[in-house]
Amino acid sequence: MIKSLSVLGATGSIGVQALEVARLHNLDVVALTTNTRIDLLENQIREFKPKYAAVADEKAAAELKIKVGDTGTKILSGKEGVKECAALGTEAVLNGIVGIAGLEPTIAAINAGSKIALANKETLVAGGNLVTGLAKEKNVPILPVDSEHSAIFQSLQGCPEHSQIKKLILTASGGPFYGKTKEELKNVSLEAALNHPNWAMGAKITIDSATMMNKGLELIEAAWLFDMTPDKIDILVHRQSVVHSLVEYSDNSVIAQLGVPDMRIPIQYALTYPDRFISPVKELDLAEYATLTFDRPDYDTFKCINYCRKALEKGGLYPAAVNAANEKANELFRKGKIGFWDIPDSVEKALESTINSGTYTLDDVLLTDREIRKQTEAMWS
Ligand code: NAD
Ligand code: MG
Repeated sequence: MIKSLSVLGATGSIGVQALEVARLHNLDVVALTTNTRIDLLENQIREFKPKYAAVADEKAAAELKIKVGDTGTKILSGKEGVKECAALGTEAVLNGIVGIAGLEPTIAAINAGSKIALANKETLVAGGNLVTGLAKEKNVPILPVDSEHSAIFQSLQGCPEHSQIKKLILTASGGPFYGKTKEELKNVSLEAALNHPNWAMGAKITIDSATMMNKGLELIEAAWLFDMTPDKIDILVHRQSVVHSLVEYSDNSVIAQLGVPDMRIPIQYALTYPDRFISPVKELDLAEYATLTFDRPDYDTFKCINYCRKALEKGGLYPAAVNAANEKANELFRKGKIGFWDIPDSVEKALESTINSGTYTLDDVLLTDREIRKQTEAMWS
């Protein structure tokens, strides 16, 4: 198992659970980063005694510096500070940042040669080609933390040849609005959209689960992680979130990974792979679940999945564009500025924009991100 670890987005849902795993296995936590929640970060600094901590928000960083002046932790600030923490060359970097803000730190960590435990799916959605290309060049593994991708990764262990994989099947809980019609969901409140049936997560991904954009993002994430074309990735609604995803092989044998819905299993596996150790997670007692159900997604109502599939087919910067539109629209919905169904409409508009569908650089991704955010904002103001 790795001995040293940096946790980016340490104060978020994934970050806090990653630190629980680090605590259980006595890992040396070298760096921690956050955007704003410095009270929690202060507690984490006092417990894990990292060499470095970074706060993206400059003002909050200055406040934290005073609060933890009595500790040995060096406080860095701004986007650059977060990148510095990613680039320390620790054995592993766990990226639990939400959104495109995670892209440059991921690249910095790959360049420094750290193993990447990746929860930040937006990194692969917006910059899949860049990130996977660089990881190959530097011989750095990207280990999935997203539960579905961890399940696929686990189900692929022992697969001798990529060509023997027939398809990947991502499971989706269906979110809080499964089975509802667009009409029934006309005046969806933020509170209802934040009420996920199976997982307690950060606000952005919880809204992505309600629109099912999350599954669209995961489709793109899976394509890059496992080198699969979109036609070989299926989606199945599975309400109980026990079967975390499946792989179908050329002989029609299907292998899946199961467990109670708890992110600490995929977080830990990304850090301990190929080994397994005890975990704080409850045993799966299948008899507790009277039935496990499977169904096809309602693509007519939850259109974001189709938009992501199309973006992946179009290639180039289209995935970055749909991601940017979604991030902006998701934020506007959480601020009460737009309605629930304005989110898919924003994503559709990005897909219809004229953008580069060929090869791209990091600057191209960041520029497209900025432009599509502006376009989305203008759409609703
Ligand atoms: P969260 O909102 O709970 O936490 C996000 C973290 O990122 C926080 O520490 C925050 O301070 C930091 N952050 C936000 N903006 C930043 C910025 N501009 N610069 C630097 N740091 C910034 O989110 P989460 O639910 O933990 O999700 C994190 C990532 O993991 C997302 O990409 C999400 O899709 C993915 N993920 C989460 C879960 C889950 O169960 N929460 C499951 C699968 C995948
Ligand atoms: Mg997931």
